[in-house]
Amino acid sequence: VGGDARAFARGLVGARVGAIRRRGKFLLFDLDVADGRPAALVGHLRMTGRMQVRPRGSAPTPHECVALDLDDGGTFSFDDVRKFGRLVLVGDADELVGALGPEPLGASFDAAWLHAALHARRRAVKPLLLDQTFVAGLGNIYVDEALFEAGLHPLTPSNRVSTRAAARLADAVRGILTRAIERRGTSFDGFYRTPEGRPGGYQSELKVYDRAQEPCVVCAAPIRRIVVGQRGTHFCPKCQRRISR
Ligand SMILES: [Zn+2]
Repeated sequence: VGGDARAFARGLVGARVGAIRRRGKFLLFDLDVADGRPAALVGHLRMTGRMQVRPRGSAPTPHECVALDLDDGGTFSFDDVRKFGRLVLVGDADELVGALGPEPLGASFDAAWLHAALHARRRAVKPLLLDQTFVAGLGNIYVDEALFEAGLHPLTPSNRVSTRAAARLADAVRGILTRAIERRGTSFDGFYRTPEGRPGGYQSELKVYDRAQEPCVVCAAPIRRIVVGQRGTHFCPKCQRRISR
């Protein structure tokens, strides 16, 4: 929770939760308010945050930061071992998420849009795909995996991506996210867990992420790790050839 815990409680007591939505990496709880109080509770799990409803009176989760009693007998719990997560009250949730790019699983994200958007910028594709104002919701692991599947070097200038490569990238992003959601995410260490505390299953499908020096599943060349925009970046030097500027 950012800021003053007492003000946070004042903003929430008696509030009625309307719609619960997700936009990019944000979870939005719209609050019914008639008296000028905050209009939404916005959460971000960051690395290790977990939200769940547990029965009221049950033991707090091991790293519970926020507990909110609900009128149906449950307690909303926000647990975060590393405490990078956020849960804040805002006056207008849409103002906060309005600058985000399109949802990669939404109707407007397709090959034609992606090609045009890549060519409207001149940035390396890896940091551009992580930029939440370009596309919302993509994180480091899935971007590395998508670039591998599309055969694009992470430092490819975005305006040099061909129509066919943009189509492969759009398919890769959608396919990887869909499979990762089905597998309930990626848990490559002991901290990343589903709300129920179980590991996800996508880590067994990772082809480049966290596989430095291991053989590429396609060509057997050793996977390389470099740092791009302060993020560990994994790729196959043979399958993802660098295009010079
Ligand atoms: Zn390869």
